[in-house]
Amino acid sequence: MSFKTILASASVFALLSGAALADGMVGIAMPTKSSARWIDDGNNMVKQFEEAGYETDLQYAEDDIPNQLAQIENMITKGVDVLVIAAIDGTTLSNALENAGAAGIKVIAYDRLIRDSGDVDYYATFDNFKVGVQQATTLVDGLKERFGDDKPWNVELFGGSPDDNNAYFFYDGAMSVLQPLIDAGDVNVVSGQMGMDKVGTLRWDGAVAQARMDNLLSANYTDKPVHGVLSPYDGLSIGILSSLKGVGYGSGDMKMPIVTGQDAEVPSVKSILADEQYSTIFKDTRELARVTVGMVDAMLKGGEPEINDTETYDNGVKVIPSYLLEPLPVTKANWEEVLVGSGYYTMDQVK
Ligand code: BGC
Repeated sequence: MSFKTILASASVFALLSGAALADGMVGIAMPTKSSARWIDDGNNMVKQFEEAGYETDLQYAEDDIPNQLAQIENMITKGVDVLVIAAIDGTTLSNALENAGAAGIKVIAYDRLIRDSGDVDYYATFDNFKVGVQQATTLVDGLKERFGDDKPWNVELFGGSPDDNNAYFFYDGAMSVLQPLIDAGDVNVVSGQMGMDKVGTLRWDGAVAQARMDNLLSANYTDKPVHGVLSPYDGLSIGILSSLKGVGYGSGDMKMPIVTGQDAEVPSVKSILADEQYSTIFKDTRELARVTVGMVDAMLKGGEPEINDTETYDNGVKVIPSYLLEPLPVTKANWEEVLVGSGYYTMDQVK
């Protein structure tokens, strides 16, 4: 065989076995497409992993736990090098991850902590306690702005899904701001419903939040106004706002209560511009993807993943080394600079 023929067949082989040329295969398990943030997370990761030379397998589980488990098991069988998982229920993956660990597959908990497993290597997320602090801080700012000295401010509390570790961090962060005001008599939770066991919203479901708000209004607010609602996620805020509008808030002399949120999803940004939702929290999913890709690259190439927290996230088996990104509060005062200025949205998307 001539030298030329050998070269030609070598390049044909390289072309045919293109997969083998990638630096590795990453399985990305996302919870649901029902919320735009997770679609952005998935797209950002695929783009950035591919740019860094990795192949990806991106799957969404539509908030169905057995479905997510099956997707992860498939990825393990397929022989991925790394799993990046935003868990639906952070406590149900231990067995699958044990198999992953035994097969030498690295695991990154993405945005949500995976609990009760020793097979989680790193955690990439935002400062979740701070998200709650920022939610409550914008709530109080809004209450001062819209209702001034009209105290006590009547407020109701909503929590996230009780199977999502983040929900407790958001709630605790928010209560670190609100509890002193409740103790001082400035804030009154009229229903008395407090604590994640009472205010949690399974699967972050907006319809569930809307139904609970309907009940809160008819049971507690026939003779007094509600001034504020702590909502931990835009999808819940939209449901809560429908309930409030349904009984007349936001029209005539019934001022719209201050309603918070999280994720800066387009319908909520529009709602803020329409003076309905008061605030949201922007978490730049491009940055979360960047941190995650960096972690994977370091792990697979023998480097040290960048982390900035080794204390906060004990998953019940061990403290997971983490990288926490900074969340940013968004209101009508800064939405354009934060969301359009950063190139996250175009003006056309939100106007
Ligand atoms: C995420 C939030 C999101 C919520 C609902 C949480 O785990 O951190 O950004 O709003 O899930 O999808």
